[in-house]
Amino acid sequence: MSYVVAIDGPAGSGKGTLAKALSERFNLLNIDTGAMYRCVALKSLQENIDIKEEDKISEISKNINIELLDSGKVLLDGKDVTKDIRSKEVTSIVSPISSIVKVRENLVKAQRKLAVGKNVVMEGRDITTIVFPDAKYKFYLDASLEERAKRRFKEYQEKKINMTYDEILDNIKKRDYNDMHKEVGSLTRTEDQIYIDSTNLTIKEVVEKVSNIIEKGKKYEKIKR
Ligand code: C5P
Repeated sequence: MSYVVAIDGPAGSGKGTLAKALSERFNLLNIDTGAMYRCVALKSLQENIDIKEEDKISEISKNINIELLDSGKVLLDGKDVTKDIRSKEVTSIVSPISSIVKVRENLVKAQRKLAVGKNVVMEGRDITTIVFPDAKYKFYLDASLEERAKRRFKEYQEKKINMTYDEILDNIKKRDYNDMHKEVGSLTRTEDQIYIDSTNLTIKEVVEKVSNIIEKGKKYEKIKR
């Protein structure tokens, strides 16, 4: 039977890196739901739609053509937008856009569809609570605000994305607040998630910790059968 590894957590907590490592180790389809919300934000910008025009943005989210490739590339309407969706402009409007209830409904539907019949690792803000509340493995990955901003700044420098440390810190603070106070699909900690604080852990340590839990679950499944 197929299974889902669901990972939630705030911006910069390392979800993307962890999901990529898990997808390679356990041969899972990697679904970055943040990239999907970013595509809706990018397309709204491209079509000069104001973030207050909720109906138009909802319409975009309903018909949008997003492809998440194994290589990590993101295609929007067949065009490579991997870098564009990380721009300052997209990053500053993506959280309010993802607060639009209809946008969430449309993307949650699309996310569930992508996972049908497959073993997947899916990361975002509402995966353990809304998209796949019955996921076999549910994690909440966290880190201190400063550590997350530091990581994101390093990543953006490597990718040559133009944002200063202070801009990133400010953006993460705002997104944290907005992401935790949404009408629907807000980032929440629950009793049944496995909570991991990665502030003082290396990527390798986080991957090992999570992999051990998945391995144990798989062994248990075998014994049960
Ligand atoms: O993960 P990433 O930082 O790329 O996500 C961008 C934004 O998309 C988040 O700040 C959040 O507002 C939104 N998001 C969401 N639900 C998800 C994934 C992302 O609301 N499942």
